[in-house]
Amino acid sequence: ARAQAMTVDRSPEVEYADIGGIDEQIREVREAVEDPLTNPTQFEEVGIEPPGGVLLHGPPGTGKTMLAKAVANETDATFIKMAGSELVQKFIGEGARLVRDLFELAREHEPAIVFIDEIDAIAATRTESKTSGDAEVQRTMMQLLSEMDGFDERGEVRIIAATNRFDMLDRAILRPGRFDRLIEVPEPDVEGRERIIEIHTDGMNVADTVDFEELAEETAGFSGAELASLCTEAGMFAIRDDRTEVTTADFEEALAKVSTDAENDTRYYV
Ligand code: ATP
Repeated sequence: ARAQAMTVDRSPEVEYADIGGIDEQIREVREAVEDPLTNPTQFEEVGIEPPGGVLLHGPPGTGKTMLAKAVANETDATFIKMAGSELVQKFIGEGARLVRDLFELAREHEPAIVFIDEIDAIAATRTESKTSGDAEVQRTMMQLLSEMDGFDERGEVRIIAATNRFDMLDRAILRPGRFDRLIEVPEPDVEGRERIIEIHTDGMNVADTVDFEELAEETAGFSGAELASLCTEAGMFAIRDDRTEVTTADFEEALAKVSTDAENDTRYYV
């Protein structure tokens, strides 16, 4: 089960330059994760504890996973990912043990970044989640807390978690030494959207006449993930038309398609 529940990536390829519109969040993550990994003695010399875990929160598809991977890449750390939802849905009865295995695996692969996606699945307040009343989910969370509390000799393992449901979280996981660095990753603003479109069209054959600034204005409310699929869809329209250059018309058609898809999707996020 351990092999399926966790993915290990020794050298994730994402770089900070691939992430658009969240420069301030990149800076905060670097400060909280990179410095303790690359220069732990500095904290000893100053006489303070390095920050505990980092919690990235915000809407889906805004770059939280990318951020965690980019830090691992930058620090030459192994990236180890576990999805909270899988722990409670697929590995029933094994959650606590898998959390223990996760930290053991991380120590074996030092330096390592442990990324726990959808942490709300194992760390929701009792009142707001259907599953958290479950003794099994509680045990999984207790195991996570005890791993983090016992992490004094933290060494070269840093923990990053992500959630789209910050409101649902049990506040116990936010105490000092646990996830005490909260970083909100919002939906991109108009400049962020332009940057993200630039990033995703970088390798594409796009006509000079395509106006990214205008596209950014037309895509209010789009996440980074939706902007990425906008670019791919635009490319698909060019291919359907047997062209190799992607035009403004392709982007407009893609816009109509991705907007409709996004509307049909929203029910999953509420
Ligand atoms: P979720 O909460 O759904 O797990 P997330 O915030 O972790 O989402 P990512 O997995 O990091 O989102 O992003 C998914 C994809 O969307 C990325 O692989 C990338 O193609 C694109 N993307 C998202 N945000 C950005 C961004 N800020 N800059 C560039 N691309 C982005």
